Amino acid sequence: MSDSLDGTVIDSLEFARSGASLQRSVGFDALPRLADLLAATDGTLKVRVDGRRDAQGKSWLLIDVEGAPELRCQRCLGGVRHELRIKSRLQLVGPGEEWPDEDLADDSADAIEADRELAVLSLVEDEVLLALPIAPRHDKCEVPSENAAGNGSSPFAALAALKKV
Ligand SMILES: [Zn+2]
Repeated sequence: MSDSLDGTVIDSLEFARSGASLQRSVGFDALPRLADLLAATDGTLKVRVDGRRDAQGKSWLLIDVEGAPELRCQRCLGGVRHELRIKSRLQLVGPGEEWPDEDLADDSADAIEADRELAVLSLVEDEVLLALPIAPRHDKCEVPSENAAGNGSSPFAALAALKKV
């Protein structure tokens, strides 16, 4: 609970009011829900969270995430790199404040309840999960040859041999 964003909580409204900012490098292995979807968990995400208060007195968290997680191809189950570039704007809705009208809110913004003990890592993970493709795939899958049980005795090789006869 010490390094990275693990266990980092912020008072979200205070964070926005004071224009605070934090920047971290977060290992994929620190994001268990994301790690479950990955072909490999080495590597990191660059995470930046900025607090801001706009002219109308609304409080915001601006979340920037950059990285290239290796997802699992839904066709061949091999690793497929996904370039991630997230810029989310989350409006903090404090007690007694009105929730923004869904119809008026633009797509790049969302609203969350203001929290005095907001777990930043979990929030970042939510944003990453939302941004991932539902069914990641290679444009073109490699035929799985090398990892098919060595010695050229794969079913494919056997089939090919049969066809030649
Ligand atoms: Zn594939």
